[in-house]
Amino acid sequence: MDNKNIQGTIFDIRRFSIHDGGGIRTTIFLKGCPLSCVWCHNPEGISTKPRPLYFPNKCIRCGICTRLSKDGGVVMEADGGKLYPAKNEDWHQIIDACPSGALTWDSRQVTVQEAAEELLRDKPFFKHGGGVTLSGGEPLLQADFAVALLKELKSRGVHTAVETALYVKQDILERVLPYLDLIYADFKIFDLENHRKYIGKSHELIKDNIRFLLESDKKESVIIRTPMIPGLTTDPGNIAAISRYISGIFPGVSYEILNYNPLAESKYHLIEKEYYFKENPRRYSDEEMDGFAEIASLNEVKNIIIE
Ligand code: SF4
Repeated sequence: MDNKNIQGTIFDIRRFSIHDGGGIRTTIFLKGCPLSCVWCHNPEGISTKPRPLYFPNKCIRCGICTRLSKDGGVVMEADGGKLYPAKNEDWHQIIDACPSGALTWDSRQVTVQEAAEELLRDKPFFKHGGGVTLSGGEPLLQADFAVALLKELKSRGVHTAVETALYVKQDILERVLPYLDLIYADFKIFDLENHRKYIGKSHELIKDNIRFLLESDKKESVIIRTPMIPGLTTDPGNIAAISRYISGIFPGVSYEILNYNPLAESKYHLIEKEYYFKENPRRYSDEEMDGFAEIASLNEVKNIIIE
């Protein structure tokens, strides 16, 4: 198959981002992730399967969807509609019939060519270090699509970045590295049991992949990243252990400490899932973020980025 015809499933394209790499960037979100972080800020991107979504603010209560529903997958109640995506419905028919856009899919399939064309529309804004970032979900889970898309973007002179949780086989990293200018790689929890408990998998593969990246020719282009999740990643022992591990492999390593994002909570109702925090924590103050950075600095990390 021609690489440009490889299909991928994406759940968003966000323009004019200034946080996912240098300059002004366009970020494409690939669906599916093998991990299940309890605080995930893109929970709609975890499942690989497309699912229907309902936006009550767009619903005009026409009743078309409930008339087409055969298995109780759509129910209209006094306080709004409810979806049961596991029900045996012709979801394509129901979503296509919704006149207001209140029903929609959470993702769409695109070929490499279609994705590249959409992303390249923003090329005039990619001056001064901007470009395209692949995010997710775990963008490297759809490895063939990711490699072909990055290759196409590089051939068109676009700066490329990826945000990965690194729970992928090393050969996928080897395939993708030649087409990447910047790699954000997460390392969230150092303790194995806590990693399993809050992220859903062991961290051995992630640690091995961090070593591989920080010993590669691209080590200067790697930024190891830890999101500050209250009580889960912010323990000084966790930040210290991660800092010692990464600086022990490559003393010049770049390490980013990412502030907590309270906006994630609002997405959980869309997928009928409960958010981990009953009371949504606030973002950390500048002084608190400086305190986390100080721990990394005391543990031999010289290049610290606070975001
Ligand atoms: S078809 Fe769309 S607009 Fe009409 S009731 Fe259903 S969700 Fe609302």
